[in-house]
Amino acid sequence: MPQKVVIIGGGIVGVSTAYYLSHHESNPSVTLIEASSIASGASGKAGGLLALDWHGNDTASLARLSYQLHASLAEQFNGRERWGYRELTTLEISCTEGKAPSRHVAGVPDWLREGVISKVGNLGTTQSTAQVHPRRFCEAIVKESKNLEVIMGHASKVVLYDDKKVKGVEVEFDGIRETKIIEADVVVVAAGPWTSRLLPNIPVSTQRAHSITISTQTPVSPHALFTNIKLKNGSLATPEIYPRTDEIYACGDVDKHAPLPKFARDVKVDEGRCRQIMKNISVVSEILEYGEITAMQAEIGPGPSVGWVPGMRNVAVAAGHSCWGICNAPGTGKLLTELICEGRISSANIQSLDPGRYTR
Ligand SMILES: Cc1cc2nc3c(=O)[nH]c(=O)nc-3n(C[C@H](O)[C@H](O)[C@H](O)COP(=O)(O)OP(=O)(O)OC[C@H]3O[C@@H](n4cnc5c(N)ncnc54)[C@H](O)[C@@H]3O)c2cc1C
Repeated sequence: MPQKVVIIGGGIVGVSTAYYLSHHESNPSVTLIEASSIASGASGKAGGLLALDWHGNDTASLARLSYQLHASLAEQFNGRERWGYRELTTLEISCTEGKAPSRHVAGVPDWLREGVISKVGNLGTTQSTAQVHPRRFCEAIVKESKNLEVIMGHASKVVLYDDKKVKGVEVEFDGIRETKIIEADVVVVAAGPWTSRLLPNIPVSTQRAHSITISTQTPVSPHALFTNIKLKNGSLATPEIYPRTDEIYACGDVDKHAPLPKFARDVKVDEGRCRQIMKNISVVSEILEYGEITAMQAEIGPGPSVGWVPGMRNVAVAAGHSCWGICNAPGTGKLLTELICEGRISSANIQSLDPGRYTR
């Protein structure tokens, strides 16, 4: 049973793991190391959509577990107020810019432009889709962790003994030219797209995406929208729009070739891409067109890998879940806690995310 666990990365996967470890009956001491600020990467800037049953075989049982854990955390800690947890209806809508549909379409939310939407499809109901405000979730879950120590510093190396057993984590502190080794029985690397910098054998994808938040005068109904907007220039835009309790969030397409800076806070924002998102969503809603942009942001998301790292003893990885890390983080934190404190994962089947698959 580990006495001391050190987690690298204060994104949603790292903080969820910290929460479940800190509440485990074996009571390990838990330290979280974060280089920028809690949820400074994709976890602070994602849409926050949760889906019960949209996932492939690899992550279906993890997603079901995680969806239930999101609901129970919200119930236990007043998440409806603290991090905007709520159930949603999720729709797919289609339209052509500047062209009215030939017939009336039923089921269009009243905050979209009249006579513009040509097709509406149901993707999820309030039983199968929900949302959180991801940054507020992360900050609250850190507060609800038991005796969690948070260290603001950059983890530069996972330090091993000669027999490959983990010794601890080497940390650099910003501004002070000092490094320190924080000793640990178990280290969890949850550094999102930066994971490969600490664990070169674990590949993670790095795709940048832009998003904006908008404040509007008029409240809008809880409908998440996946859009297909045929623009006048012939191209197709597919922004996703998530109304929240206090703002509206919209994100655009991914931009695969963005460089990964050392710190999450330094991910470059291309304001032109953000303005384009605003322009595209204005095609479907006048309320959005006259809303005020309150944040323009870019984030880089990782690919999935959860379990013990091959070739190292007592080093685990939990490197996010591509576009589903917000949804799947509580389940990931719980399953890693089972693996670390009980020796095996019992609440879901995530064999296909085993990092060992990269070295077999
Ligand atoms: C535009 C966009 C929209 C999205 N929408 C959704 C959605 O609606 N629903 C959903 O489920 N998912 C969504 N996602 C995916 C989700 O955001 C990610 O899967 C998730 O945030 C990954 O979390 P993470 O904790 O693994 O990584 P990150 O959020 O990247 O966190 C990693 C953390 O580690 C820290 N770190 C890195 N290296 C070090 C180091 N060496 N030392 C110390 N700290 C370090 C970073 O500063 C960062 O805080 C979206 C992603 C994008 C890009």
